[in-house]
Amino acid sequence: MKDFLLNDEDRAFRQDVRTLLHNELTPRAAEIEDHEDWGAVKAVVQALGQAGYLALMFRDLYHGPLSAPGLTHATILSEEAAAINYAFETTIATAISCAYPLHHYAQHSIRDRYLRGIVDGSEVGAICVTEPNIGSDSSGMETSIQYDSQTDEWIINGFKRYISNASVADTYIVYGISNPDVVPQKGMSAVVVPKATAGIRFPRNYTFMGRRGCIVGEVEFRNCRVPADHLLGRRDEGFRIMLSMFNFERVILGGSGLGVARSAFAIATDHAQERISFGQKLGCKQLIWDKIAQMSWRIDSAELITYRAAKLYDAGALSPKELMKPASMAKLVSTETANFCADQTVQILGGDGLTKEFGRAEQIYRDARALSIVGGTSEMVKYLIASIDLPHIKPNL
Ligand SMILES: Cc1cc2nc3c(=O)[nH]c(=O)nc-3n(C[C@H](O)[C@H](O)[C@H](O)COP(=O)(O)OP(=O)(O)OC[C@H]3O[C@@H](n4cnc5c(N)ncnc54)[C@H](O)[C@@H]3O)c2cc1C
Repeated sequence: MKDFLLNDEDRAFRQDVRTLLHNELTPRAAEIEDHEDWGAVKAVVQALGQAGYLALMFRDLYHGPLSAPGLTHATILSEEAAAINYAFETTIATAISCAYPLHHYAQHSIRDRYLRGIVDGSEVGAICVTEPNIGSDSSGMETSIQYDSQTDEWIINGFKRYISNASVADTYIVYGISNPDVVPQKGMSAVVVPKATAGIRFPRNYTFMGRRGCIVGEVEFRNCRVPADHLLGRRDEGFRIMLSMFNFERVILGGSGLGVARSAFAIATDHAQERISFGQKLGCKQLIWDKIAQMSWRIDSAELITYRAAKLYDAGALSPKELMKPASMAKLVSTETANFCADQTVQILGGDGLTKEFGRAEQIYRDARALSIVGGTSEMVKYLIASIDLPHIKPNL
């Protein structure tokens, strides 16, 4: 049975999301993929914001029909969007990830100023963690966030790379070291930096093999100054803020992987039932059955594990530490499933799987590859999972 973790309201919501995406995203998907059309991405972000879908994680801001909006619904949104165009979905997933610390940790005036635009879709946000010398291991972070008591401002200096929405964002959540005399986990802070801040630069955007249409690039901060109230949470609390984001971000990535896997599977099953080879439909061959069956059970497993994590999160009964394993498993299983399905679909399609002229299999194959790297690589989330199962052993990273 599919999606039995979801209730009738969740399913009705999925139907509403599908309708909106069918009207807004499907007609623009080719523009986004072929021309990396940011205007098309932005138009769909606005449509989702106006429909209230970017406020799903924030019950006090949500004004739609759902009785208890939450991560389950944000994950459904991601799954449905990624099934149509994963690049687009990354833009909204980043926006929600940026909105989360603003909602939970910003002072009221700052929250009102920067969150509203992200949630109503008129603005987008970016999260700035990764640097040239730090990726999986954030302990060597070099960006500094220093307090200037004379002007009552934070001064940000640093270079961030691989930042989704880099040059097109309006608001940046920036992580950096505020106390270099202690370990980074205890000396990191997070600040809100609006785009208009003097000293912010966007040296370049990258050209990726997939996710075309999602702008990812570098952001440089040179003596950028923001008022003291732009600090999120307390001084030196940045690492904890960063960790608090990961649980829900990884469940949403579970939804992204699921959407990508589902769209690959649909192409594979259609082709297997249509293509004639050796006088029979390709789908009659046992080796093809094996591929279809493997995709099918992996997608069902990913779905169960992802929505289990989302439901656990929404129930609110588990601590962030207890949620870490189910959320990490959702990310790992779904993103590996997306890669598996994308690869097997190309194989089932043969030459047609490699060409733009015969459909989306090649695009899905290129898009899927990022999923096991972003938001914590597969290796890193495996460490997190095993660290719960082996509580008395510290992994040798
Ligand atoms: C498309 C895209 C969008 C992104 N968007 C953002 C964003 O919006 N904001 C942001 O801050 N960052 C973003 N990132 C950065 C992303 O989070 C990092 O790429 C990711 O965390 C991995 O870091 P890295 O690329 O430096 O790889 P590294 O950390 O250098 O790792 C390289 C490889 O080594 C493996 N590895 C590392 N350490 C170990 C170990 N101890 N044991 C075993 N294996 C190990 C990793 O798993 C990986 O396979 C984005 C990246 C991409 C590709």
